[in-house]
Amino acid sequence: MQESYRVDVAIIGAGFAGSLTAMILSRIGLRPILVERERHPRFALGEASTPFANLLLRQLACRYDLPDISDLAKYGPWKRSHPDLPTWRKRGFSFFRHHAEQRFRPTADHGEELLVAASPDDESSDTHWYRPSFDAYLVAQAATLGIPYFDQTETTVLQDRPEWLLQCDRDGKPFEIRCRFLVDASGPGGFLTQTLRLPPSLEPMETSSRSVYAHLIGVRSWEAILRRLDAHLVDYPYPCDHSTIHHIFDGGWMWVIPFDNGVTSVGLMLDMEHWKGIEGQPAEDQWQKITRCYPSMLEQFAQVEAIEPWRKTPRLQRCVDRCCGPNWVLLPHAAYALDALFSIGNGHTLLGIERLANTLEAHWKRDSLADALRLDAETLRQEIQFNDALIRACYRSFRSFRLFAATSMLYFAGAHAAEIARSRPDRPTVWRFLSSQVQPFANAVHEAARCLDAAYEEAEIREYEAWIRKAIAPINFGGFADPSKHNLYACA
Ligand SMILES: Cc1cc2nc3c(=O)[nH]c(=O)nc-3n(C[C@H](O)[C@H](O)[C@H](O)COP(=O)(O)OP(=O)(O)OC[C@H]3O[C@@H](n4cnc5c(N)ncnc54)[C@H](O)[C@@H]3O)c2cc1C
Repeated sequence: MQESYRVDVAIIGAGFAGSLTAMILSRIGLRPILVERERHPRFALGEASTPFANLLLRQLACRYDLPDISDLAKYGPWKRSHPDLPTWRKRGFSFFRHHAEQRFRPTADHGEELLVAASPDDESSDTHWYRPSFDAYLVAQAATLGIPYFDQTETTVLQDRPEWLLQCDRDGKPFEIRCRFLVDASGPGGFLTQTLRLPPSLEPMETSSRSVYAHLIGVRSWEAILRRLDAHLVDYPYPCDHSTIHHIFDGGWMWVIPFDNGVTSVGLMLDMEHWKGIEGQPAEDQWQKITRCYPSMLEQFAQVEAIEPWRKTPRLQRCVDRCCGPNWVLLPHAAYALDALFSIGNGHTLLGIERLANTLEAHWKRDSLADALRLDAETLRQEIQFNDALIRACYRSFRSFRLFAATSMLYFAGAHAAEIARSRPDRPTVWRFLSSQVQPFANAVHEAARCLDAAYEEAEIREYEAWIRKAIAPINFGGFADPSKHNLYACA
């Protein structure tokens, strides 16, 4: 006879989000089970943290008594308590604008460089998460709390009401799960999207980008290249190799995310329309073609070797119409995908986990649960639209670095204000992702793409920069969009 598990909540997908959700639900007294299709360690994207993501990770770890997880929220404690888990300091966000067939040209006024510090020192620095090890560690932590975990398991839904009946198959050994509630943490795997045939959102996403990426060894120090180009490194608020580096070029950008195991995650994010001509080519050929156009980027990657095959995606943006029902919910990465710019994914995922934990704690086995989940879903929907408008505007701004530097201030001001709000002892519960509940600010984000489309001449660009300063004014607690900073922002 096959084994049968009766639990409160089944969580499908054991990425960092599934494992963390399982641990938190177990801490609030529910009985979760965690089911994963693959086997850890496995490759995953989502490797650069942010101050918001780390703050939230730390707050969740403290609130739900997960001290080992709390150490992962800052570089110093991470290195002391988990020296074997690969990571890197992410002291800030660094952007450099490249032009085809020209070496990168640093200038005294840093006109095509933008560095925004996120942490004042290594000890409190944000981190890069080497997801194969990071996710394997979290799932092992979940197991130490006694949470049943099954990897390499295919799951089929036999029944979803009044309770879930799941038929699972692990290596030919079938078992069943009966539970009251289901959390879809399967990310792009789309477990419930497929099972319940959830239609795509009626409001299509406006960002249109795709990705080409790999894990590489042999990536050269960007700082060393800058030094040879006589960049004014003394002005920088942090050593730029200790950050997530973004190389911006016509119609796209590249992320460079180093780890201390010698591996560097590198990926191109490409505007669909701009790079349509090479879409059908193999991933590595696209990478070669683009880096060959930009001599300084080429120098950084002259001697690299991919440790796994290059991969490419179709258009990344997806969003479902419904992300909850009376007895199920999709975590953010199962509900939507947008773009890697500003590394917003993990922070938003952690916020989704926090909301779900609050909702289940307050409404478990009550009639009010369905309404509470619907409210959370509506908040998520509005945040997705906000994020989409922000990223779309940034893509439109790539044509001029001044426009991009100005537009990016919407992100930095919104993220920073949200961090400040969360750090207050009287934490406001209505503070949304990237401060998107501040209505005049949110309206400006939705307007930004249209406004910058009208900015070409010097006077128009100045006008746009002034408009951005006004747009962020209600939440600009970090002195962003200040011309006297010359694109270099020390820790606010
Ligand atoms: C190109 C790109 C770059 C990104 N870069 C960043 C970044 O730098 N920083 C950032 O914050 N965010 C980034 N993101 C977003 C980030 O990937 C997500 O926020 C993060 O991975 C969410 O974690 P997760 O655990 O929810 O999902 P995932 O990491 O996708 O994990 C889902 C898990 O579910 C499993 N699964 C799938 N289907 C099934 C099934 N049917 N049954 C059982 N298990 C299943 C999978 O095997 C996987 O282990 C990026 C996204 C993309 C697309």
